[in-house]
Amino acid sequence: MGVRDRRLLGEMLVESGLVGRSDLETALAEQRRRGGRIGFQLMRLGKVAPGPLYLFLEEHFATLTPDLAEILRTGPRVDLLPARMAHYYRMVPLRQDGRKLVLAVTTADDPSLISALEELTDLTVDPLICPPCLIREALERFFEWEEERGVCRNAVGENVLILSDQAQGITPRALDSLEETDTGSEWLRSVVAEAILRRSREILLEPLEEEIRVAFRRSEGEESLRTLPRSLQGGIALALGQLSRMEPRGRTVPREGRFHLRHDGRTLAAVVTALPGLQGDAHRLSLLEERIQQKNLSEMLEGYPGIREALQRALCEKKGLLLLAAPEGHHRKRILADLVGFLRERCGAEDPIVAPEVRTAMEASDLFQAAGDRLAVAGIQKADAFDSLDWLLQSDLLPPIRAGRLCGILGARLFERSCEHCRRRLDLAAEIPSLARMLEGPDGCHANVGCRVCRGAGALELEPVFEFLPGTVARALEPPSPKASRERRRELARAGVKTLFSTAMARAAAGEVDVREPLRLLFHEGRGAA
Ligand SMILES: [Zn+2]
Repeated sequence: MGVRDRRLLGEMLVESGLVGRSDLETALAEQRRRGGRIGFQLMRLGKVAPGPLYLFLEEHFATLTPDLAEILRTGPRVDLLPARMAHYYRMVPLRQDGRKLVLAVTTADDPSLISALEELTDLTVDPLICPPCLIREALERFFEWEEERGVCRNAVGENVLILSDQAQGITPRALDSLEETDTGSEWLRSVVAEAILRRSREILLEPLEEEIRVAFRRSEGEESLRTLPRSLQGGIALALGQLSRMEPRGRTVPREGRFHLRHDGRTLAAVVTALPGLQGDAHRLSLLEERIQQKNLSEMLEGYPGIREALQRALCEKKGLLLLAAPEGHHRKRILADLVGFLRERCGAEDPIVAPEVRTAMEASDLFQAAGDRLAVAGIQKADAFDSLDWLLQSDLLPPIRAGRLCGILGARLFERSCEHCRRRLDLAAEIPSLARMLEGPDGCHANVGCRVCRGAGALELEPVFEFLPGTVARALEPPSPKASRERRRELARAGVKTLFSTAMARAAAGEVDVREPLRLLFHEGRGAA
C-alpha cells in the first residue's frame, strides 16, 4: 500500500466523521516519524474508537486493500506464526515483503507484542488493523489448532470450559497440585471448581504486587481467600478474555463478556467483568444459572407480532420443512420443544416429524423428502437463519427450496435482559454514529453494571430474540452465486427481512435487552447487515 493509499484511508475516515482533521494530521506526523499504517497509528494514539473503525473497515477493507483482503480470504501465511499464538492474539500474517511481515491485527493496545513477534519471526512487523470478524474467519479457516482439552471454542455462540466430564476423563485438579507452567485455562478450571466446592458464586481475581488475591464470595457477604502466584496473571487473564470474548465497549461501563461452564452435563453461565486496577486488570467472575422468563414460544413471540404471523402463514399448508437455527449455548433444544408445542396449538399440526438436529446434507435432503405431505421441524446449529440458508445452498438443496418445500428458517438467540436496578445509559449514538438511526428508543440504550437483583440471585435472565426467513423469500433467490453470505444477508435485509441484529438493537432501544449483546454479535461475528 503506497503513501497515496494511506492518505486515502485517513481522508475517508475524516469524511465519514470518525476521525477529526487535526487528529489525522497528528497521526500522519507520527507516521512520518515512525512509519506504520495510518489506521494502526490512529488506533495506537487513541484517535479513533475501535467499534466504529471496525464497522467502517468491514465495509471498505476490500476496496482499500484488495490484494490483502484477497490474501486474508484465500491463503494467509500460516507458516509464519504458530496457530495457537495466532488464535490467542487474534492476528493473521498476510504477506512477507523482503524482511517485512504484513500482519493483520485487531488492536494497537500492546506495543510489546509487536517487538516480541519481531524477535520470534526475525522480520520487521508491519501491523494492519483489520475487523475482528474477518480475522476470525481467516483463523477458523486456515489456522488449525489442536484445541486444549476441555476448552471448546465456537466460532459463533458461546465458548465452553468443561469443568468435568466423565466420558472425556476431565476432572479439575486441586489448586495445590498445579504447576506455574500449567495453562491459564487449566488454572481457571481449578479456581472455578474450588469456588463451587466453597459454595461461592462470585470469584474476584485481583493482581497485587507479588501475588494474585482470590476472593471466593458467598451470598451472605462473607468471603474466603487464597493466593496464587503472580506469574499466572497473564495466562489467566488471556484465558478469560478468550473464553468470554471481551471487547472494548465504550467508556461508561466496564468490559464484560461471558462463556459457559459444563459440569458433568450441567451448564452454568460465567459472566466475566474486567476491573482496571493499579497492578493490571482484576476480574470478577459470576457463576449463574441461565433463565428464560417466558413459558412457551407463544409468550416468547409476544414481542414479535410480525414473526408470529409470518410463521403461521408459512405453516398454514401443514407441510414442508421448518428449521430452527441457533448456535451453541442458546438453548436450541428447549426452543425446539416449544416450537413443536406451538405447531400443535396454533397451527393444528398434530404429528409433525421432529429432528433435534440436522448435520449433513443427506439428512436435510431426507427431511425435505419426508416434508412433501406433512410438516417437519428440525434444529440446526448455525449462527442464524441466513447462515443456515447459506449452508442449504452450498449443500445443493436449492431444488427442494424452489419446489416450495421450505416453510422457513426461524433464527433464535438469547440475550441478557436489561436490569432496571443497575443499568447505566450508554451513549452509543456518540460512540458509534452509524448506529444512531437504529437506536430511536424513548430513553436510549442501557448496559447492566451488575447488582444484587440481576446477579445476586444466582440467575442470568435471558430474553429470546428471533428472526424469520420465510421459504417464499428463499425461493425467489437467484441461483446461488459464490456470493459471500454477508452480502446475501444485506440483500435479504434490504428486501425487508429483519435480522437478529436489527431486532436486538430495537429491543435494546426499547430498554429490554442489554445493548452490549447485539454489539457482541456485530463485533465478533460481523453480523450487522444494515
Ligand atoms: Zn442489576
